Amino acid sequence: MGRRKLKPVDSLQSPRFAGITTFGRLPHLRQLTDVHAAFLGIPFDDGTTFRPGARFGPKAVREASLLLRPYNPVLKVAPFEVLGVVDYGDVDVVPGYIEDTYARIQTTLAELAARKVIPLICGGDHSITLPVLRALRARHGRLSLLHIDAHTDCWDEYFGRKYNHGTVFRRALEEDLVEPTNSVHVGIRGPVYFERDYELVKGMGYHLITMEEIREKGLPSILERVKGILGAHVYVSFDIDACDPSVAPGTGIPEVGGFLAHEALQLLRSLVGINIVGLDVVEVSPPYDHGNITSVLASNLIYEGLCVIACNFLAGSRRP
Ligand code: MN
Ligand code: MN
Repeated sequence: MGRRKLKPVDSLQSPRFAGITTFGRLPHLRQLTDVHAAFLGIPFDDGTTFRPGARFGPKAVREASLLLRPYNPVLKVAPFEVLGVVDYGDVDVVPGYIEDTYARIQTTLAELAARKVIPLICGGDHSITLPVLRALRARHGRLSLLHIDAHTDCWDEYFGRKYNHGTVFRRALEEDLVEPTNSVHVGIRGPVYFERDYELVKGMGYHLITMEEIREKGLPSILERVKGILGAHVYVSFDIDACDPSVAPGTGIPEVGGFLAHEALQLLRSLVGINIVGLDVVEVSPPYDHGNITSVLASNLIYEGLCVIACNFLAGSRRP
């Protein structure tokens, strides 16, 4: 299988609305020869505590991604020329059964990791990130986490249960998957359950940057600080509710006062030079979306992440 076959369909030859929908019009392939990065859908939303619908995220994001084009003029990179990329399809989750689903996610991620393929994941609610971290921890050692979200997702339990989208990063610490001193939660805001919520997260060793701090100090200086925190093997987990509901209404737990679309793009683009071993964009809930704006944003965020990975690849090696 040559690299030629790993390219997206040419939208100057075949109209975007024709054909079978895959992320960025990439080939849907399960073989991983010459593949450096793979889009993977994880359509599971039984870990959500409020509005469901993120199970339809991968489908909507693929649809929105038909608009992506092959060259990124800001980062000055043509990602599909640099990297072999495929749409790997979706994990066959088990609706209603989170631990069975976790096992299946972990198996798929281990397959990709064994072939050194960087996963570009589309959720699903945020609960899907835990088994992803388990698989990548097994490959890379303890991970450095860049968690972009309105919420810390560090609570201990909901309704007496340990696994859901609000407890992921506490479980990740307990399971020794992440190094908290090289990990940071960015964009945190909104009312919380207890006065000491933020202090508890910092007490776990994590860095935490609130949206108020970002507004006060400005995004560029915050991004410098974030890059200083991150370690050798970085996992980027982007909850779309980090963005303002005015630009991302299609989500489970909307929180006012978030990132605007251009700020979210700026945040991801600033990661050139950071070794990203995997990324996800989660919590896109199409039933609550309007005019597909949330899924259009999500597809662009995944594209920007891919472009950063391509830039890093070019800096490290001229020949993929
Ligand atoms: Mn989250
Ligand atoms: Mn959130």
